[in-house]
Amino acid sequence: MTSNPDCLFCKITAGDIDADIIHQTDQVVGFRDLNPQAPTHVLIVPRRHIPTINDIAESDAAVIGQLFVAAKEIAAEEGLSEPGYRVIMNCNAGAGQTVFHVHLHLLGGRPFTWPPG
Ligand code: AMP
Ligand code: ZN
Repeated sequence: MTSNPDCLFCKITAGDIDADIIHQTDQVVGFRDLNPQAPTHVLIVPRRHIPTINDIAESDAAVIGQLFVAAKEIAAEEGLSEPGYRVIMNCNAGAGQTVFHVHLHLLGGRPFTWPPG
């Protein structure tokens, strides 16, 4: 499935719902989280609809890699390369996933603790 008409992030990547988009390539889109958990909190999503990590196919490997390429570039633009930042992808409800279109959280601008909650 390349797009799901009922999916919030498919609607954002299609431009049908507004978001603060800060990064776009032919494969991925980055936009600011509506409920930021850090001074920088950006979600990076593939344009292709992939519900969870469990649904990633071998043929998705390149686009999943592009999520990290985008994260690195956005982190540099936000001045986070040197201080550091965190990237997170939740899989399914037990890990806190609420939107079922895979997305990499890029968080930075404050200290982080480990282990996460
Ligand atoms: P997760 O809990 O990992 O599925 O992350 C979903 C994220 O999407 C949460 O951090 C939400 O704050 C964020 N979110 C939900 N709706 C929107 C929206 N319309 N625009 C931007 N971020 C959103
Ligand atoms: Zn989707």
